[in-house]
This record gives sequence, C-alpha cells and structure tokens, in this order.
Amino acid sequence: MNTPNTKPGKPCEESDSIALARLTDQIVECIHCGLCLESCPTYVELGREEDSPRGRIYFMRAVAEGKVEIDESVRRHLDVCLGCRACETACPSGVQYGRLVDIGRRIVEDRVGRSPGEAARRWSLRKGLQSKVLFGGALALGRIAKAFVPAELARGIPASRRAGTWPSPRRSGSRHH
Ligand code: SF4
Ligand code: SF4
Repeated sequence: MNTPNTKPGKPCEESDSIALARLTDQIVECIHCGLCLESCPTYVELGREEDSPRGRIYFMRAVAEGKVEIDESVRRHLDVCLGCRACETACPSGVQYGRLVDIGRRIVEDRVGRSPGEAARRWSLRKGLQSKVLFGGALALGRIAKAFVPAELARGIPASRRAGTWPSPRRSGSRHH
C-alpha cells in the first residue's frame, strides 16, 4: 500500500493512552489477508487500499505507533468509512473494526481541527437527521420550494406518501420447526 504520509507523528498524549491500548489490542488481530476488501463498499467504489478496512487499519496502526503525522488526509480516509461493519462479517480473525474505527476517529478528531463551516455542517447534519422536528420541517419546506427550484434539484425532494399498514406482530406460537 502507498502510505500517503510517512512523516513521524507527535508522540501520543497521556489522555490517549487507554484508547490507544485498546486500539493496539484490536490491530494485532489483523493478519492483513485482505478478505474484507470486497465486502467494503468504499473500497469497491473507490478502488483504493487507503479506503479499505485493511488500509484504514494500517493508518490506525501507524497512528498508534506515532509513525504517521495525523493530518487531514488520514482523517479523510476515516471519514469516508460508512461504519456499516460489513468488513467484520468477512474477517476470519474477528477484528472488531467498528470499535477500532470509533477509537481511531476520536483520536484523529482530537488532533485535527475542522474549519468552523465544516464543523457547523457536520453538527447540523448529525442533529438534523436525528430530529423529527428539524428533519420534518426541512422536508416540508423543501416540498414547498420544489416548484421554484431547478428540475435537477427538485427530483431529489421526495413527494409526501402515506405510511403503509403497520406489520402485525409475529405470534410466538406460529413458528414452524
Ligand atoms: S479480513 Fe480481517 S484480518 Fe484480513 S485484512 Fe481484513 S481486517 Fe485484517
Ligand atoms: S465499516 Fe463498512 S465502509 Fe467502513 S471499512 Fe468496514 S465495510 Fe468498509
């Protein structure tokens, strides 16, 4: 793999030590077999090792060992990960990639700042998508504005649709063996 940045990083700070110990604990489980690659949507789409589970594990190992400078390019590769954990089911070594990327992201996030605009965009997405009021309000406004925006943009705003019938709960005695 081409590691884009091989400059040594800052030594790990004390506050990171427990998280890094847990990170290292998971990293050593990876045998670099690559069996997870084809199950990873970002690798399939982008075709780059750096955007595969194995590539991100290389980065996180380099971060844990202080062998790579943590910068925006490292963060971008972690940002691109969808967190779907499809790689975990393909892994013969049982690497808990989800835990690993959570810890890695926290460390990288602490070290590399984001611009105010990017931080605000991420915050509003995180809060907006989780809030029925905010998301519902934005969608309602979008539907009103649909008639006034270019067709290309309007196509992305879904029409209102009634919810279907709620599925009935499965009865415990109805299962066949
Ligand atoms: S399948 Fe598991 S062991 Fe193999 S490269 Fe991926 S994470 Fe590492
Ligand atoms: S969590 Fe999903 S997107 Fe991220 S590395 Fe694993 S398979 Fe790829």
